[in-house]
Amino acid sequence: MIPRQFARQTIAFSRRSISLSANPKPVYSSEQIMDMEKQYSAKNYSPLPIVFQKAEGVLVYDPEGKKYFDFLSAYSAVNQGHCHPKIIGALVSQAKNVTLSSRAFYNSIFGQWAKFITETFGFDKVLPMNTGAEANETAIKLARKWGYVKKGVEKDQAIVLSCKGSFHGRTMTAISLTDQDDSRDQFGPFLPGIMHVEYGDVADLERVLEEHGKNVVSFIIEPMQGEAGVVVPPKGYMRAAYDLCKKHNVLFMADEVQTGVARTGKMCCYEWELDGAQPDVLILGKAISGGVFPVSCVLANTEIMSVIEPGTHGSTYGGNPLGCAVSIAAIEVVKEENLIENAEKMGKLFRELSQDLVGPDRIVTSVRGRGLLNAYVTNPNHPGLAKNKQTAYDICKKLKYNGLLAKQTHEDIIRFAPPLVITEAQLRECVEIIKSTIQEFEKQ
Ligand SMILES: *Cc1c(COP(=O)(O)O)cnc(C)c1O
Repeated sequence: MIPRQFARQTIAFSRRSISLSANPKPVYSSEQIMDMEKQYSAKNYSPLPIVFQKAEGVLVYDPEGKKYFDFLSAYSAVNQGHCHPKIIGALVSQAKNVTLSSRAFYNSIFGQWAKFITETFGFDKVLPMNTGAEANETAIKLARKWGYVKKGVEKDQAIVLSCKGSFHGRTMTAISLTDQDDSRDQFGPFLPGIMHVEYGDVADLERVLEEHGKNVVSFIIEPMQGEAGVVVPPKGYMRAAYDLCKKHNVLFMADEVQTGVARTGKMCCYEWELDGAQPDVLILGKAISGGVFPVSCVLANTEIMSVIEPGTHGSTYGGNPLGCAVSIAAIEVVKEENLIENAEKMGKLFRELSQDLVGPDRIVTSVRGRGLLNAYVTNPNHPGLAKNKQTAYDICKKLKYNGLLAKQTHEDIIRFAPPLVITEAQLRECVEIIKSTIQEFEKQ
């Protein structure tokens, strides 16, 4: 029996959500919502003080009705813009038919999605999961098994190479792949069989491969490091790393959970660097479902993927009809609305317009990025920041006050990643907000 008190609450909640969609009048103020989260949620984030009540395209509204431009896009998950009508349409219509079969049975959408996604990204096979971290877990399992079955590595001797400063998610495998203290502190022991190399340093990778190549099964890399602060590797590095992997019979695995799906002005970021070659394993998440339902996947050719056999790996929700329908719509939006071209064009314009702000004695010392994944590097010692002990976080708070949502990474970097549907007029308006905000600090 459900206690009466709970039963009543459930009814109240469902009524509330019905009235919300019919009439977006908020039930709680921003203040109340933030207090509730503080009181009842684990404190695993420290969010900027903004509550999303409604969102559409590049715009977000808080419960008080104030409008903001979203320059984080949920870490590049909503590349297609918030609540894209085509994607929401796919969600609603699929939700009325069937939402979950588990893969103990077939469902009518998963096969269609698998065909669509493999054709779109140019691989033979796909393995569906839900979150980016899970897809990376899957890729590591795939690489290890491939190492034992195909490369002939001795039992339990497989080594995976990963880059310093990388981000691959929050599960134990994912944090074992990085060397970042804040994600690892007091969570050890970590997964064995992982070695770290310097990001962007061909010689370091070569040294480790020369020494351990026999047991190395894969090298996993972000083609641009997102969480590390939008780091673009030196020209030629990715291709050289790829060639070294080929030489040592090591799988080259690209974690494009953040950089994939048009974000950097190509469908995948590796296209900038691999001169027509393709990673052996491609890991996608975030924007392959446009921020509507968690979908992630691992793509590879048959030679590699065939080591996965029935019963050796799975996920209850992986390949669910709802996620598959949403993901097909999300990728179709990318194609139909030319989001790859728009990301490239608007990104160039963003970096160009930002140049007025950049200089060795300015708060912003450089702007970097590709497509619409960009960042400002700030100088924490600039008097405009140092005088009041302020950092990139305080700039982000002021940006929020001025109607633009961006997130710092580390103390000194601000990432700018709006939905790829942003128009030129919107982009120009946003750069004006950013400029006047940073000038406020410079005048202090
Ligand atoms: C966000 C991200 C992940 C983790 O994705 P989740 O869905 O949060 O688990 C993995 N790799 C990269 C490069 C990411 O940016």
